Amino acid sequence: MNAKEQLIQYGLKMKNDCLVKANWGNLSIRVPQGFIISPSGMNYEDISIEDIVTLNLSGNIVEGFRKPSSEYLLHSEIYREFENINSVVHTHSTYASAFAVSRKEIPPIIEDMVQIAGGNIRVAEYALPGTGELAKNVIKAIEGRNACLLANHGLTGIGRNIEEAYKVCLIVEKSAQIAYISKNLGEPFILSDKDIEIMREYYLNSYGQK
Ligand SMILES: [Zn+2]
Repeated sequence: MNAKEQLIQYGLKMKNDCLVKANWGNLSIRVPQGFIISPSGMNYEDISIEDIVTLNLSGNIVEGFRKPSSEYLLHSEIYREFENINSVVHTHSTYASAFAVSRKEIPPIIEDMVQIAGGNIRVAEYALPGTGELAKNVIKAIEGRNACLLANHGLTGIGRNIEEAYKVCLIVEKSAQIAYISKNLGEPFILSDKDIEIMREYYLNSYGQK
């Protein structure tokens, strides 16, 4: 499957897994010319190969006739800043967004989240959607992690490939839900920095089929 086909497939997954409603959210994959990104305001069911837009890392269109996602600056800034990151998935999932509007970080309380995302999930300072300021705030909040919340907006996940960036968004959403439920049961226990480090290291270097 090529990168454009993958982008279409994961857009549909994002919708089917309820990480976004309607045509909101966006996703991209790094390619040699820069990155490919979902088009602005189109339903995921309607996107075909020719609707995908290719941009260079300065945010200029190099291929495609559609308007790119209005959050393209967020994507280009991430690719410029983190050279080991090859995919960005931006969702508006419910529990993560609840933390984002409360401007509260998701604490490091569950093992799969700290493995795949690296620890607590911070909230990027508020800026209007689609702005370079929002992109800069995200770069600050996501440092050392694979995800951050966008105040009053949603979630951004990043990964070495789209499978990982997508999984980050799924696991962070699940963790936000657990954090919320756990709070109602009492105070959740926070994992120690040392245990987080061990699990993160294991995930990055030894986890899965080698
Ligand atoms: Zn958004």
